[in-house]
Amino acid sequence: MNELELLVDLNLQQDRQGPGGTKETLQALELLNVDTNQNIRIADIGCGSGAQTIDLAQNTKAHITAVDIFPQFLDKLKIKAENLNLSDRITTLCASMDDMPFEKESLDVIWSEGAIYIMGFEKGIQYWSNFLKKDGYIAISELSWTTHKRPVELEKFWKEAYPEIDTISNKVKVLEGSGYSPVGFFTLPAYCWLDNYYQPLQKEMAAFLGRHPNNKLAEQVVNENRDEIELYQKYKEYYSYGFYIARKI
Ligand code: SAH
Repeated sequence: MNELELLVDLNLQQDRQGPGGTKETLQALELLNVDTNQNIRIADIGCGSGAQTIDLAQNTKAHITAVDIFPQFLDKLKIKAENLNLSDRITTLCASMDDMPFEKESLDVIWSEGAIYIMGFEKGIQYWSNFLKKDGYIAISELSWTTHKRPVELEKFWKEAYPEIDTISNKVKVLEGSGYSPVGFFTLPAYCWLDNYYQPLQKEMAAFLGRHPNNKLAEQVVNENRDEIELYQKYKEYYSYGFYIARKI
């Protein structure tokens, strides 16, 4: 397995593959001015095993197309959807977020939690806008600085890992400059990182290393995740995921 495949393997048993929470998904949903009791069309991009896809399906009457590049995650989501009798409203689509087969201006809402960083926030919101109807909404969580200033060590780490990390006000400017009208924003609280994502991941690490004995790359994947967790615990007041909700104008 290469590094990416190992990362998928480490995350596959998890309920989520990034920070988030049901309450926060529903909080973002509240901010959309669309009638979610109608059969609207939502795309959930970089859905992983679909924790937020299920939340959206259970709290709307929408049809959701859940997009991910790894079929292993989509298979997990399909099983969950079947068990919850939601298969008729969730369709999985194996595609890359920067090359999607949706029709122009066909979607009411584009949802994406903890994934747009893969293609970059600005590029992502601009490309995805093609598929949104006018007055359609995006609801996207994106790594953001929550303070004006921050320690050098932290800045260095994230600038290398994700150069587009920025303050909330600058992210809002990017939205405004890309044909969107911002309608709401909030940051994910610490339990979305610690209880919902990092702790289950830490619990899985031993089993993961057991599946890949004497594998230097697997050890490296675990160490990188441990470093990221340690950094978050030390500096969590300075950054989080911001949840940005905006309307296409
Ligand atoms: N939204 C989920 C998963 C976030 S992790 C959650 O919050 O739990 C990011 C997801 O993006 C992973 O599931 C990963 O497989 C997917 N991904 C990575 N590269 C991608 C690409 N190019 N196109 C679509 N999805 C991608």
